[in-house]
Amino acid sequence: MTDLPADLPADLTAELPTEADVAICGAGPIGAATAYFLARKSPGLRIVVLSDDPADDPGHVSTYRYSGGSIRWTWADPVKREMTTETAEFVQSLLADGVDLAAIENTYHLLHTGEHIPALNISASRLVSHLLERAAEAGAQIVPRAVVEGVRPDGSGHLVDTTRGTIRAERVLVALGAANALLFPETDAELEKRQLFVLDLPVPPERERMPHTIVPVGDGFGYAFVKSVEGRLRVLVGQEDIVEDDDLSGPVDHWDTLLERGLATALPWLREAQVDQILWGVDIAQKKLVLDEPAPGLLLAGCGSSVRSSAWLGRTLAERLAA
Ligand SMILES: Cc1cc2nc3c(=O)[nH]c(=O)nc-3n(C[C@H](O)[C@H](O)[C@H](O)COP(=O)(O)OP(=O)(O)OC[C@H]3O[C@@H](n4cnc5c(N)ncnc54)[C@H](O)[C@@H]3O)c2cc1C
Repeated sequence: MTDLPADLPADLTAELPTEADVAICGAGPIGAATAYFLARKSPGLRIVVLSDDPADDPGHVSTYRYSGGSIRWTWADPVKREMTTETAEFVQSLLADGVDLAAIENTYHLLHTGEHIPALNISASRLVSHLLERAAEAGAQIVPRAVVEGVRPDGSGHLVDTTRGTIRAERVLVALGAANALLFPETDAELEKRQLFVLDLPVPPERERMPHTIVPVGDGFGYAFVKSVEGRLRVLVGQEDIVEDDDLSGPVDHWDTLLERGLATALPWLREAQVDQILWGVDIAQKKLVLDEPAPGLLLAGCGSSVRSSAWLGRTLAERLAA
């Protein structure tokens, strides 16, 4: 697990209510951010968050737990840029308020161009926990251990079937990450595997703020950076273009290939590293909001790299669901 577990701010014995105005299925970055913005925007709205997020997560279903937590990036695409910029500003405001997100501020160093771009790396689990806590304070009800099994039409609303019973809601957001496709295989979201290698290298003080270094590797890029993993600073390397996207079965160790294809030439100190752990999960391939509405008031939302866009996604979806 990348970060601290997201301890839900909920009574684990809390009953599932029979009715809500809005049911949010899934409490990852999208579900948690939507609950946060919606509860604050619409006091009195009955919002219920249905969450199944086991701490041991054997199937690596809760993708945010394995996230690198990179927040800032410069995108040529204006929408992606807006999504990221709004989220970076939101996260900065939380940090200014003293919220502990295990943040590291340094730079992205694009080795091939020599550019330095401001970088911000946080714990996605801490962000999710914080958003849920604030959502609960603003009136949202978080129901843990509720596995969503299906959504059926019911007059003007919908019935959401869970392992803890059925809830009727006028509007429903399905934000289960890659698991959206299990309930709604017709979704437009495409899936891809993402991996990070946690290395056994020491992190002396001079490495604590090392830049998030971007290196050409094969046909794409690799990135080496430091991040807090289970409360300890570690050196990590990520690379998305070598791992087969359509093999969603589990981690694949292609560390030697990464080194051979350019990483070891650009960053020779990585040759000494052994891989301690591979963090992996299944993400949405599209890095913009993929929003399906199979029935009026039933929204399926997914987005790749959605930690980086979480505030934009949460605000945008809250505006849709408040209506
Ligand atoms: C290795 C790796 C590195 C990454 N690095 C970054 C990064 O640096 N920056 C970035 O922005 N993004 C990064 N990402 C991507 C990011 O983690 C995902 O885009 C994001 O987590 C998706 O958010 P989500 O809310 O849609 O889904 P998820 O994070 O998958 O959350 C879905 C939630 O729904 C729950 N759930 C699933 N099924 C059910 C069900 N049936 N009933 C109830 N609950 C259910 C899950 O347990 C989970 O709590 C990375 C991902 C990986 C794997």
